[in-house]
Amino acid sequence: MEIEVLTPHGLCAGVDAAIALAMRHRDAYCLRHLVHNEIVTGELKALGYTFVNSIEEVPDGETVVFPAHGVTPEVRERAKAKGLNVVDATCPFVARAHRAARDFSARGLPVVVLGDRTHVEVEGILGEIADKRQPKPGEAIGIVSQTTMNADEVHDKIEALRKTYRVEGVADVCTATKERQDAVRRFDGDALLVLGSRESANTRRLCEIARCPVFTAGNMDEVRKAMDELERYGRVGVTSGASTPERFFERAVNCLRHVLEHVAIVMDGSERWAEMRGKPPISGHVAGARTLVRTLDRLGERGIRHATIYPFFSEKGKRPAREVAGLMRIFATLLKSGVGLLVEKGIRLRVIGRRDDLPPRLRESIAEAERRTAAFDRQLIVCINYGGRAEIVDAANAAIARDEKVTEETFRRLLYAPDVPDPDLIIRTGGAHRPGDFLLWQSAYSAYRFTDTLWPDFSDLP
Ligand code: SF4
Repeated sequence: MEIEVLTPHGLCAGVDAAIALAMRHRDAYCLRHLVHNEIVTGELKALGYTFVNSIEEVPDGETVVFPAHGVTPEVRERAKAKGLNVVDATCPFVARAHRAARDFSARGLPVVVLGDRTHVEVEGILGEIADKRQPKPGEAIGIVSQTTMNADEVHDKIEALRKTYRVEGVADVCTATKERQDAVRRFDGDALLVLGSRESANTRRLCEIARCPVFTAGNMDEVRKAMDELERYGRVGVTSGASTPERFFERAVNCLRHVLEHVAIVMDGSERWAEMRGKPPISGHVAGARTLVRTLDRLGERGIRHATIYPFFSEKGKRPAREVAGLMRIFATLLKSGVGLLVEKGIRLRVIGRRDDLPPRLRESIAEAERRTAAFDRQLIVCINYGGRAEIVDAANAAIARDEKVTEETFRRLLYAPDVPDPDLIIRTGGAHRPGDFLLWQSAYSAYRFTDTLWPDFSDLP
């Protein structure tokens, strides 16, 4: 499969500006969707934004953000009457369509609106038109199109209207929509993957106008599902709607190109390694730590930015308490000596698991190590007192505590490290051919590699 990235793609200027504006008002209420993208909505929710479906749900005197695709004049009036502080994220192209509808209407021209009557933008435009009468043949009219329509179809409809009416003015599809559609029309490959949410009108248009089989994906799980089908095609184009974040686009393209982003390792076999050599268990862990350093170097050389490790086979509750306490002491020692090395290599350390059950001094050491390495981009995620099932239970309890009905996307945000991409590959050393209680949610689409090699001897990275 050869991947061709179509340009332009990713966020349009209108969506970009709307998100930037919303970010400056984190205590605000967002009316409906700020933009039509589930990833953006999920991130804003995680930052604490409250999404409401109607202006009446915003408490009087609070701040409300109007979405990129605008609101009706009636909503503006209600916001004023409620004394709300309005942050208007309406895109300039949408504002232009509203203005055109208002001006045509003020001049006494009947206005023909081309668009989807149920779309929030069209509702807003219709709200600007005082007189909604049908024009008579030969009469002067104004035309306003929803900004995210199929540009060719809009052009044809305008030409057809010109045959019956005198067209005095037109507010057309926006530039971002046109450019993305033109790129799709030019694409002559075998299949197209359109990245974006199903609720996004401009994403749907891109699917409609493609001249080859089309697949869509709104998140990485859907990208991985689509990949199984896409592998059958030779040249595959990738594009996105105007509200699709660039980082999701990049990750999707990396995934299609089989570029690994995240390798997770169950480091099993260190104590057996020591036992086979007649040495104490700690010597196996020290040798395992050296293997980890070599492995991190090799992952870094390959541009793999995330590594998750499950050391000491530290599954929650699988060992006697005294043994666990001993392992935690070993971990504390390795952490103390290893943090300088992580700083030197530019690797951010994160520890996931039920941290509250760890000894207080170890918790402090972990917090200090995480603080010292927080600025780095590459990440080493260490699972301590961790269990995949426990992680899911903790996320479910967090959702219950918030009284929140979850979706796959919102549930993911309650996991221990929600910003880390799912592992592309999970390696387990030490001879067991089962994944264990490790990253159960995140591994739905991961590839597995099992090896009999004991962890300290491991060198066989793909
Ligand atoms: S798609 Fe067009 S109208 Fe919609 S936000 Fe982007 S630039 Fe504005």
